[in-house]
Amino acid sequence: MSLQFHNQLTKKLDTFTPLSEGKVLMYTCGPTVYDTLHVGNWTAYIYWDTLVRLLRAHHLDVTRVMNITDVGHLVSDGDDGEDKLEKGARREGKTAWDVAELYTNDFLEGMKRLNLLTPEHIAKATDYIVEQLQLVRTLKGKGFTYQTSDGVYFDTSKFPRYDDFADLHLEAQKAGARVAANPEKHAPSDFALWKFTPEGQTRDMQWPTPADLIEEGVERPGFPGWHLECSAMAMKLLGNTIDIHTGGIDHIPVHHTNEIAQSEAATDQPLSQFWLHNNHLKVDGTKISKSLENGFTLDDLVEKGFEPLDLRLFTLQSHYRTEGNFTFDNLAAAQHRRLRWRNVAALRHQIHDTLQEHEGEDTYGLYAASQALVEALSDDLDTPGAFRLIDEVFGKLESARLGTIHRHGLVSFLTTIDELLGLQLLESTNDITDEPKQLIIERERARENKDWDTSDRLRAKIEKSGISIRDTADGTIWEYVS
Ligand code: AMP
Ligand code: ZN
Repeated sequence: MSLQFHNQLTKKLDTFTPLSEGKVLMYTCGPTVYDTLHVGNWTAYIYWDTLVRLLRAHHLDVTRVMNITDVGHLVSDGDDGEDKLEKGARREGKTAWDVAELYTNDFLEGMKRLNLLTPEHIAKATDYIVEQLQLVRTLKGKGFTYQTSDGVYFDTSKFPRYDDFADLHLEAQKAGARVAANPEKHAPSDFALWKFTPEGQTRDMQWPTPADLIEEGVERPGFPGWHLECSAMAMKLLGNTIDIHTGGIDHIPVHHTNEIAQSEAATDQPLSQFWLHNNHLKVDGTKISKSLENGFTLDDLVEKGFEPLDLRLFTLQSHYRTEGNFTFDNLAAAQHRRLRWRNVAALRHQIHDTLQEHEGEDTYGLYAASQALVEALSDDLDTPGAFRLIDEVFGKLESARLGTIHRHGLVSFLTTIDELLGLQLLESTNDITDEPKQLIIERERARENKDWDTSDRLRAKIEKSGISIRDTADGTIWEYVS
């Protein structure tokens, strides 16, 4: 079964073959740790986690690096303005180092809550300053840099393919452009590799600028530009060329374009053979912004009675390349879907003992469904297609007679769903205790005796233990209510 993904490098669906047989080197652009992540930020990490799971289902050995941007990402996303970390430090009356630690831990905790797999390397930009400076040195040695009063810049005119990745048509843009924000830059697209700490200021995070990287006479501390870290860390931890690089669509025209320019200028080799980008999430049809206070966090969702896994399911209902729209109604619908799915998973506790685990017919094609699920996702991570398939199979199981469901087939399908989509259908569906089970048996007996009063009384008692029951031709089935 082949894998195919939409590749920003070629702008089309390409069949994926790893560079080295059986192995995948992958890099995911990670968060800037100056605040708690909102539902939009989590979108990316949910999709790319699912991609890793899919690659593993193809028996590929994935090594993934995710960076933690703890320095150098300026509020403008360009070369101007305050560092987001320093801004966070001012807001909270802490140092930038403390803010970075606080929100890195917050992010890692959020990853666990969303059942996101831990990448093999979680790399902090501040731990790779030496490597970043080395990359600046290489680029300087090859004539790709120039210095201004505020930093060392990459000269994009020296990299003729600069426009290609994002189809930028910069020449046309330049003709209509107004005065560049930084008049010392040779072109608006040039970007800072290393910035000097502004004269008269001290930053929490700064490092001496090595003498060989600066023109004589300027001896100033500095810090890396945002794009530099990803190139330097990918190179250090994975090598010059990797298989897959992922990020949000906002990364295409600047961050990834710049990563490609600086990496490929330094190594003369392609940085990555595949580039995948997730579209953005809106909230109530509007862009997420601080001023609208619509950047809901995982804690906000929990406060309103949802679980992080409801967000995971909500996100995966849409394809990663389509724009998502978050509303609490949509999240409630996702929560409802997850509850339905959990109740199908709970059927495995109720299939009668008379049917042996490995016997009986796989009437509902559960083994084939596992295979079909991998196939759906292999087509450019078609999560909506995977969800349609699950709904179709589960719909049949909901109306099936219990005795006709192949227990082992069901467990196997649930395992595949959990491995690929991380929804913890098995983990979140423990069997009920003996007490309500006993009550269900007593009620069935009462029904056989047409003792409806006792039956009703027992139903009320059963439902007090947090489950509901429905009567079928095969007997009573219990279900979770939340
Ligand atoms: P940042 O922490 O600003 O570097 O952003 C972290 C990630 O969140 C990036 O990959 C962005 O592409 C992504 N991101 C930011 N806003 C949204 C959004 N509304 N929807 C989806 N992804 C987003
Ligand atoms: Zn990056």
